Amino acid sequence: GRLLGNRYEIIEKIGGGGMALVYKARCQLLNRFVAVKILRPEFTSDEDFISKFKRESQAAASLSHPNIVNIYDVGNEDNDVYYIVMEYVKGRTLKQVIKERGALEADECINIGKQIALALQHAHTNHIVHRDIKPHNILITDDSRVKVTDFGIARAATASTVTNTGSVIGSVHYFSPEQARGGYTDEKSDLYSLGIVLYEMATGRVPFEGESPIAIALKHIHEDVTPPSVINKHIPKALEDIIMKLIQKDQSKRYNNAKEILEDFNQALKQPMGDFVKIDED
Ligand code: ATP
Ligand code: MG
Ligand code: MG
Repeated sequence: GRLLGNRYEIIEKIGGGGMALVYKARCQLLNRFVAVKILRPEFTSDEDFISKFKRESQAAASLSHPNIVNIYDVGNEDNDVYYIVMEYVKGRTLKQVIKERGALEADECINIGKQIALALQHAHTNHIVHRDIKPHNILITDDSRVKVTDFGIARAATASTVTNTGSVIGSVHYFSPEQARGGYTDEKSDLYSLGIVLYEMATGRVPFEGESPIAIALKHIHEDVTPPSVINKHIPKALEDIIMKLIQKDQSKRYNNAKEILEDFNQALKQPMGDFVKIDED
């Protein structure tokens, strides 16, 4: 196949999002598989996208954690091909898992949720906000290890960082109210998005759907969430409490940090899974 950077042999396309295409490749020097994310050609003349792509690479490369996809290399071929080389994760995205199996068991929700929280704790401690936490960016290996990828909108969370108010980047189904408003986003936005991901794992669906991105964004800002146990009565109260605290519209009512979530997950695991939320059957 095609050779990038004199060492990465492209094997096959494995996916593609709004900004880039992802290929499985083999590093000929180290003789191992890698994932290569190549910026879509229609964007390589756009300086905004190039700087976004570089920012994504640098933010992700500064992190080193077992639950975060490792960045190995970046490159720029003379013919305007920009790429980022990362750890190849054999498995499926959480989106695929939910699509195939519907709502997951409570212990699996907690197992996956804990690993995402560990990834966020590491990133947030290093002042990196992900800003695009969604099931497409959660890779799950066959032995249930979680790797968070695509720090596509992540950048160092400094006081001067104010997000764009223009075009919609990322998936609005997982946007926090403050993100939906196009305002300042920080670590607490990632916690809200994690709450939506947990909600989807526990119930098999996201809390807000709509005709347009704007309609969905408005629901995140204004509409009350149907408690997960109304959709799936098997959800333990401890898990429902964690989800509801993560998706508070008021930032100050959410968890303060990922570490606090981990403490509640561990508490939830100590409680028998039979301790379900009681709801009226009639
Ligand atoms: P968006 O552009 O909104 O971020 P996306 O997250 O679906 O959308 P990409 O981040 O480009 O797009 O990833 C596309 C797909 O490639 C993923 O859904 C996943 O299936 C696959 N993929 C991404 N990174 C890896 C990796 N490191 N190892 C294996 N597969 C990967
Ligand atoms: Mg992605
Ligand atoms: Mg992306």
